[in-house]
Amino acid sequence: MKTKGLETVTTQLGVSRREFIKFCSVVAAGMGLPLGTGEQIAEAVTSAAKRPPVIWLSAQECTGCSESLLRATHPTLEHLILDLISLDYHETLSTPSGHQAEEARAASIKANKGKFILVVDGAIPVKDNGIYCMIAGRTVLDILKESAKECAAIIAIGSCSSWGGVPSADPNPTGATPVHKVLADAGIKTPVINIPGCPPNPYNFLSTVLYYVTFKKLPELDKLGRPLFAYGRLIHENCERRPHFDAGRFATEFGDDNHRKGYCLYKLGCKGPETHANCPSILFGDTGAGTWPVGTGHPCFGCTEQGVGFHKPLFSRASLHMVTPPDTYPHTQEKQGKGATIAGVAVAAAAAGAAFAAASKVADKLGKDDKGSK
Ligand code: SF4
Ligand code: SF4
Repeated sequence: MKTKGLETVTTQLGVSRREFIKFCSVVAAGMGLPLGTGEQIAEAVTSAAKRPPVIWLSAQECTGCSESLLRATHPTLEHLILDLISLDYHETLSTPSGHQAEEARAASIKANKGKFILVVDGAIPVKDNGIYCMIAGRTVLDILKESAKECAAIIAIGSCSSWGGVPSADPNPTGATPVHKVLADAGIKTPVINIPGCPPNPYNFLSTVLYYVTFKKLPELDKLGRPLFAYGRLIHENCERRPHFDAGRFATEFGDDNHRKGYCLYKLGCKGPETHANCPSILFGDTGAGTWPVGTGHPCFGCTEQGVGFHKPLFSRASLHMVTPPDTYPHTQEKQGKGATIAGVAVAAAAAGAAFAAASKVADKLGKDDKGSK
């Protein structure tokens, strides 16, 4: 089959070849891929004989995941998603509706058996045989199992499909369950990639799809099934307020002087120290610096971390998981300006499960004055 080629596709997208390659290079850099991979991605996605078919199922969700993709302000992002993949079924975006839409889904599954990507947003209710989410007279539980057996891979987009999200908050009346658990319980072994976030960052979705299309394999995942390029680091590691955390400068109330000065939000319940995501690095909405929750003065609430967002109280303090450079955690209970104490650091590190040796080392270092004596 004749391929479309880079020139044709970029003309269709309304961007120059140069702009398109630049965009793909930014995506590649975001995934930590070597220089030159951007061009490889651009060639791969535009030379494919057929756009990769995607079936998008919506379960217990608010459509925020789809909105975050479509409302992205980058001029090419929405086009890239809709023009480079073949979105054969999406309850909100598909032109056909009712039985016609369901027939389109069935026809695409039949024609693309083993080759299509299944995207799922929303949690799957399993209580009472799944009757709390019905589509065209069938439970989404059934539709998911049926579709998952036939696809190449599944992308669980958003915190609801990755972890259960909002619908799974206590007391979880419908038995809202993450996609990977539903499939594991049913013995379906199709790989599931989790792209959590509420809503998820569209670049993380797009990068995952482009990676799969280019290299014909999944990106490296962490133990919770998240792409490492996006979820390999704690938010706390890249946060612009981190120097304030290290120096013991915290906002204690919304709107207080320290909040206005941009101090650390840990005492307001920021879950950055226990949440893995690239929010501070890639931001949201292409509107410049500071466009992410902590950047706007709101604590991270941990939506990308299983068991944190929607489960821990908003204003509870985050667990400190690791001691990272500059290897000193101030005592977060101290009055500001008093500095860290040996006991505070040791307790923080030990409570976080850090190695006892590391905790003692830090405590030992903090207990010494400038000349090194106790
Ligand atoms: Fe909505 Fe958030 Fe769930 Fe996505 S993850 S469907 S944005 S509640
Ligand atoms: Fe940033 Fe939150 Fe960490 Fe403070 S606790 S440095 S606001 S991520």
